Amino acid sequence: MKRAIFPGSFDPITLGHVSVIKRGLPLFDELIIAIGVNSNKKAMFSLEKRKKWIEEIFAGEQKIKVETYEGLTVDYCKKIGAKFILRGLRTSADFEFERGIGQVNRMLAEEIETIFILTEAKYTPVSSSIVRDIIKHGGDITGLVPDTVKP
Ligand code: ADP
Repeated sequence: MKRAIFPGSFDPITLGHVSVIKRGLPLFDELIIAIGVNSNKKAMFSLEKRKKWIEEIFAGEQKIKVETYEGLTVDYCKKIGAKFILRGLRTSADFEFERGIGQVNRMLAEEIETIFILTEAKYTPVSSSIVRDIIKHGGDITGLVPDTVKP
């Protein structure tokens, strides 16, 4: 059973996330979209809302589950028996950031492998923080997030 997690804040989930999830799915038997609860980071959307949106988007996809977790990502992986962490890469800045996290995670838990998927070119500029900014200023987020995401 190849179990992977796709960890993130998903505040809110974007079409960039959805693309990475769909493309990563054939690699694994089960993919858990794991919403990390970070008490230092004030989210725009409640955990319940973020989780509900993701569940709606992937309703009917048997291999996908949506969960929340607190603490270290590798500890959560160990707890649920996940051997893979899926992450998306947009830019060289993402790469540097992810390299650090990925390498330290490996120091903490050698048996867990991080797998990277490159963003589709059209989603390179899409991020949850840009979406939040547009929402804050009353702009249109069509084309950046799935239709299910209704602020
Ligand atoms: P975090 O809170 O850890 O930054 P996010 O919720 O922003 O997490 O994103 C989770 C994962 O999705 C990260 O690996 C991030 O690089 C990736 N990701 C975010 N936006 C995109 C995108 N537009 N295309 C591809 N991957 C993305």
